[in-house]
Order: sequence, then structure tokens, then C-alpha cells
Amino acid sequence: MAQRDVILQGPPGAGKGTHAEYLKTHMSYTHLSTGDLLRAAVAKDSDLGKQAQGYMEAGELVPDDLVIDLVAERMEQFDCEEHFLLDGFPRTTAQAETLTAILETLDRERPLVINLVISDAEIVRRLAGRRMCPDCGTICNVHRDGLDIGDKCPQCGGELYRRSDDQPEAIHNRLEVYEQDSAPLIEYYQKRGQLVTVDAEQGQQQVSVELAELAQGRRPC
Ligand code: AMP
Repeated sequence: MAQRDVILQGPPGAGKGTHAEYLKTHMSYTHLSTGDLLRAAVAKDSDLGKQAQGYMEAGELVPDDLVIDLVAERMEQFDCEEHFLLDGFPRTTAQAETLTAILETLDRERPLVINLVISDAEIVRRLAGRRMCPDCGTICNVHRDGLDIGDKCPQCGGELYRRSDDQPEAIHNRLEVYEQDSAPLIEYYQKRGQLVTVDAEQGQQQVSVELAELAQGRRPC
């Protein structure tokens, strides 16, 4: 079966970024992460970055119109041979409906939506231990890699830091926001027959391989 466009869904800390990295490396995917695009806009201090920063630091969602414009612009550049992997988008029903409309206009097949399921306790543990490389975006974790703030990135040597929205207060807020705004998307995609669920608490490699098989249609949905 043919490779499919994929949307990775799941709460913060479910491993969307880590598994997206695996799929990008092992399959031909164009990875589109709204979180990464927004962090880049903040780092550049662009107009979008200035508008998004406060929401991001508080663990709130950036307003739909800003994020939708960002994604729509990139989607229109997609080659029909190219497969996309969306991570962190859509996050609200309005975003999902707009995405559906954009894909219909572009005459693309419905993407496979993979929902990563994980308990709140494990989310808090992972997010509190997450460390990022500012230079290459590699995601590390204190619990898994034994690397902490100020240590060197294993990929490029950059100095690891903790995302401002991985502080305890923002983590709590992000989980509430997820329940309120993003959890309804699961029902939206279930009704459209696009959803498949994966246990994200298995080992990282096992989850990544399962996702790759689903994306290639080698595992029944
Ligand atoms: P992430 O890296 O996906 O966890 O995103 C980090 C932050 O960026 C989120 O907590 C939001 O503030 C913002 N963000 C990312 N994607 C979206 C989206 N699709 N809609 C609204 N805000 C977003």
C-alpha cells in the first residue's frame, strides 16, 4: 500500500516531535510542526513571533487565524508527490475543519490521524524532564538520556535548555487546554474514519516502528 499523509495527535509530551523525527528520517516525509514554526518566529522576533510569544509562554493556544495562515501558506507549496507529517496541528475543531477544506481544495487524500495515548502522570514526568537543543532542535530527556540543562546536545554540541512552557505551571495549563480544545478533535476524526490509536507509553522505538508501519499501510488501522 502507498505511503499516506499523517497527522500526529495527542497531548503535549506524548512524543509527537520525537516520533516525527523518526518518520522524517526513515521515510520521505515533510515534517510540519506548528510549535517549531512558532518558536522560530519568536526567536526571529517577527510580527507573528511577537503576537504568539505570550500565549506560548503561558501554555495557551495561539489564536486560530495566526496558526491557520501559517499552515495554509506552507500547504499550498506542497508538491503532489510529497507526503506531509503534521505535528501540533490541528489543535482546535476550527483548525481541523479548515485543514479538511484546504486538503479538499488541493485534491489530496484524507490523511491518517494517529492518536498517541498516554496517561497524565507520564506526560508530567516526560515534560518536566524534557530538554531541547536550541541549535538543531534535538529533543532529549533527563530520564531517558541522563542529560540536563547546560549539557551538550548529542547531535550538534549545542547547550541544552528547558522550554519555558515545560515549567510546572505551564504544563498544568497545557493539559487543561488540551482537554478542552484538542480532545474533541479525536471525535471529529473518528467520525470521518481517519483515526487510529497507538499506546504511546510503550518503548520509543516500538512506537516509532508501529507508526511507520501504519503510515505505510503495512498494519491494519
Ligand atoms: P508544541 O511544540 O506543539 O507543544 O507547541 C508549543 C506551543 O505553540 C503550544 O503550547 C501553543 O502555544 C503553540 N501552538 C503550537 N501549535 C499550535 C496550534 N496548532 N494552535 C495554536 N497554538 C499552537
